[in-house]
Amino acid sequence: MPSAPEKTWTAQVVSAGRTYPTDTAPVVNPARTGEIVGTYALAGPRIVAEVVRNAQDAAVTWGSLTGAQRGRLLHTAADALERDLATRAELLTREQGKVLWESRLDLGGGPRLLRYYADIAPAVDEETVVRDERGTTVIRRLPMGPTVVIVPWNYPVYLCMMVLAPALAAGNPVIVKPSEFAPLALTETLAMLASALPDGVVNVVPGLGGEAGAALVSHPGVRKVLFTGGTESGRAVLRGAAQNITSVSLELGGNDPAIVLDSAVLDDRLIREIRRSVYTCTGQVCFNIKRLYVQRGVYDEFVDKFRQAVDEIVVGDGLDPASTTGPLNNKKQFDSVTALLDSTRKDGAQVDVLGRALDGTDWDNGYFMLPSVVTGIPHDSDLVSREQFGPTVPVVPFDDVEDAVRMANDTEFGLAASVWSEDPEHALTVGRRIAAGSVFVNSHRVGSSDMTMPFGGMKQSGLGRNHGMWAIDECSELQALSHRPDTSAFPGPATW
Ligand code: NDP
Repeated sequence: MPSAPEKTWTAQVVSAGRTYPTDTAPVVNPARTGEIVGTYALAGPRIVAEVVRNAQDAAVTWGSLTGAQRGRLLHTAADALERDLATRAELLTREQGKVLWESRLDLGGGPRLLRYYADIAPAVDEETVVRDERGTTVIRRLPMGPTVVIVPWNYPVYLCMMVLAPALAAGNPVIVKPSEFAPLALTETLAMLASALPDGVVNVVPGLGGEAGAALVSHPGVRKVLFTGGTESGRAVLRGAAQNITSVSLELGGNDPAIVLDSAVLDDRLIREIRRSVYTCTGQVCFNIKRLYVQRGVYDEFVDKFRQAVDEIVVGDGLDPASTTGPLNNKKQFDSVTALLDSTRKDGAQVDVLGRALDGTDWDNGYFMLPSVVTGIPHDSDLVSREQFGPTVPVVPFDDVEDAVRMANDTEFGLAASVWSEDPEHALTVGRRIAAGSVFVNSHRVGSSDMTMPFGGMKQSGLGRNHGMWAIDECSELQALSHRPDTSAFPGPATW
């Protein structure tokens, strides 16, 4: 049984080494809801205004460094983030609920992403020079200015660093608004990062989305918003940013389909890989598989083997190494998935609840839920059309690939998708017909996409693309600097 924490953590406002007193709210352990893991500051518009001013001051110096100079500073900061990783991973599991190896992965992404963008930071300064008979044009990138990063609770550190690192490399100071449901390990990490960089370059404003978040996105001093979260909140962010025509990139929800073709070999690797792609982080990952479409020839075999594999899952406190998955992160999410499963049963579907509770788990005092596999579900059932963000998945048979493609695309989302087959050429042909920002063949999980691939959603799954230079361009202004005095190609009246 995991022990109680040795200290209570606090996510305070971090900005330019100053102190900002606020009211606070508790962060609860989702595996033991009676345990307060720490508290977070409830920042409001007044603090937001002060922090934006600090970021505006920092923008002048940070933005005028060369990319290579910023890269060197980011490398030093990445080294600082390697310290106390184990302590912060334990803290992350206590506040988020997921198993410890996932927390380590989440936090380990911090230094890794910083180093990646530190290495490519010199490329930010590369200019394109166009010379023709009319003269010369230089096309260059400029930083946008204070950049707000709003983060969800499922992979708080990794998802923050994924957008923060390119924003810094591009010359923008950042202001991060963590989620109220997992603010502690992230704020701790960002406080370390802030200390390793000049004052005001990295700032943290903990608080509620509707207050701190809304005040940040509508502040006239903010020039870019990088938002990761649900589609409804994304809409609110767009409305807030519209006041000052602030540029917004959105990484939103997904209802990712996976298509298993008759040509797939249902060996242990495939079944385990799909299990992992559904139930990682207790199903709370934006591009986990959310719907499984399985061709009729292998459907029965798939359902049988998949149920057996899911039945091996052990649900318990994420700190216990015997747990495969932890609890859901918060009550709202627990209630939402519970209601979804209730409506699925009412729709006449078969919900097979599998797996087992880890011995000694305080089941009724945590947001625990056993994994389930759903069959016999109508296509218009909520579990098929909505993002469940929990440990359950519908498995739907199809005869014709045309039907699978139509059902896969019948969604307002378009984040990721996958096709599973021993014939990769055929799978790629099917994949080309899916409207999603990323389509994978024979994999579909955290790590399937990397910095060599643009990452982002089509339709209501987002705006813009992340990873590599795409991410740098997402938070840079492009300027055309032109000396082309010969304008004879566009003649006007001689008198003008
Ligand atoms: P939410 O949208 O509820 O919250 C995300 C962040 O937005 C939180 O920090 C929240 O603050 C803040 N927020 C909420 N309302 C506003 C507002 N009006 N203005 C500014 N900020 C606001 O998402 P969840 O945290 O519940 O995360 C789950 C969702 O995120 C899922 O839909 C998932 O698919 C999506 N997601 C997408 C990813 C992607 O890469 N595409 C990755 C991970 C998740 P607070 O919580 O403090 O109130």
